[in-house]
This record gives sequence, structure tokens and C-alpha cells, in this order.
Amino acid sequence: MADPALLILGGTTLAMGIARAAAGPGRRAVYSLAGRTEPKSAPDMEVRTGGFGGAEALADYLRRENITAVIDATHAYAAGISANTRAACAAANIPLLRLQEPPWQAQPGDRWIDVMDLAEARDKAAEIASRVFVTTGRQAMAQFAGDLRCWWLARVIAPGADLPELSHGGYVYDRGPFDLSGELTLLYDHKITAVISKNSGSAATYGKIAAARELALPVIMIARPVSGDEVQVETVADAVSWLDQWRSI
Ligand code: NAP
Repeated sequence: MADPALLILGGTTLAMGIARAAAGPGRRAVYSLAGRTEPKSAPDMEVRTGGFGGAEALADYLRRENITAVIDATHAYAAGISANTRAACAAANIPLLRLQEPPWQAQPGDRWIDVMDLAEARDKAAEIASRVFVTTGRQAMAQFAGDLRCWWLARVIAPGADLPELSHGGYVYDRGPFDLSGELTLLYDHKITAVISKNSGSAATYGKIAAARELALPVIMIARPVSGDEVQVETVADAVSWLDQWRSI
């Protein structure tokens, strides 16, 4: 049987942070990625790529790989893998920690419009704006492909065959972190009149929110999926404390 291991579900800056903190000699750990994009860097541990095949298959993987604890550090909006992980850990009776940043809070000067989902965000944008910066990820792009109501500028990490052509818009390819001055330039140069965003809470993607505030642009903010009832922490330091506790048991 494989040595006991920690499984970290990744794909975020925070996940890389806990992976770096958790790695060490004599400590087996596995870092898991969905594999949608080429990672910028990989942690110093076993890395596996691709879906598990659903909650039951993930529970089988946990048992087979002798996983004894799981940290779900996926993006706040990656609701599918988080639900599967919750179910799989419960089925395999393995402790689970959810690590995610708290959502950003609106500051004075912010013009946020809260919406429930992507479709509502798109409709709201069409109502109030003409040139819209869309930062909701590549999987959302099909919903904008044929929509002629606004000019959509979508930012994704890299080109790919999965990205539909936008009938009325275009792509910028870039990977965070994004700072305020770069975001101001982008919004200004493209004459953007509204931003669509998820509330990831990440410092790496906050630049667009600060830039929109500075330019007095509305940000159409898509609500976070509801959290589960597993133990939740918001910082790498708190995740390390949880790990230390788990290792001392
Ligand atoms: P999702 O809808 O919850 O995931 C869809 C499926 O992809 C999951 O059911 C699982 O497939 C597989 N998967 C997702 N994350 C995985 C991981 N870390 N390791 C192995 N399999 C994984 O998630 P998503 O929104 O597509 O996000 C995919 C990945 O991108 C996540 O890891 C997330 O952290 C990262 N990410 C997402 C966003 C976002 O806005 N959603 C932004 C930045 C980064 P099976 O059911 O086959 O196991």
C-alpha cells in the first residue's frame, strides 16, 4: 500500500501556498489539478492532473492512494469538485479542510451590482453597458459567443480550441497577478463601461475591482456558491495549524 498522504485540490494561488507549506521530506502529499490550462508552476510534490470521474470515483481514489486528509483549496466557484470532495471524504471517512479566501467587501466608491449567476450578469451588462470586460473564465465564454448586445472583452489564461469565437468581442490572454495600473490601462484602452466578475476574494485578481472603483465603473458581481459544512479556514497559516493538528493525531 502507498504511504499515507495528504491530498491538496488545487488550481489557485492559495493552493500553491498551502502546497509549499505542506511539502517536506518524509511527508507524502499529492497536488491535484483539473488540467484545463498549463500550470504556471508546480509544487514540489506528486502532481496528478484531470478529473477523478465523480464523487464515488474520488472516494475510491482516496482509499486506493491511502489519502488520510484532504485540503480543498480550489476556487470558490469550483462548486462541482468541492461537492464531490465533500461526499467522497464523508464516504471514505477522511478529514476535509476547505481553504478559501473570504469574499471581497465593497469599499466606498465601489459600484457593485449583485447578481445570482452568469446569465443574469450578462443580461444586466446588456442593460447598462456597451463595452464589457468579462473575467469569469473560459468555460463561461459559450454564453457570450453569439450575444451582440455588448462588445465583450474576455480575459483568459491562454488560447485554446475550447474557446468559441466571440461574434461581438475579443480575447486578451494573460495570467495573474494583475495590478491596479495594468488593469487601469486595460479598462481605459478598451473603453470598457462595465466589468463582470466573480467574488474570488483573491489579492491576485483584485486589481480590476480597484481599477473599476477608480474609473467609477459598475462591477456586476456574481454571487458565490453556498459553502459546505466542512471545517473552513481562510489563510495558509490556519491551514498549516489544521495540518499540524491532524499530523499529531
Ligand atoms: P468544477 O466545475 O467544480 O469542476 C468540474 C470537474 O473538473 C470536477 O467535477 C472534477 O471532475 C474536475 N476538477 C475540478 N477541479 C479539479 C482538481 N483540482 N483536481 C481534479 N479534478 C478537478 O471546477 P471549475 O470551475 O471547472 O474549475 C476547475 C479548476 O480550475 C479547479 O481546480 C479550480 O480551482 C480552478 N479554477 C477555477 C476558477 C473558476 O472560476 N471556477 C478560477 C480559477 C481557477 P470529476 O468530477 O471528473 O472528478
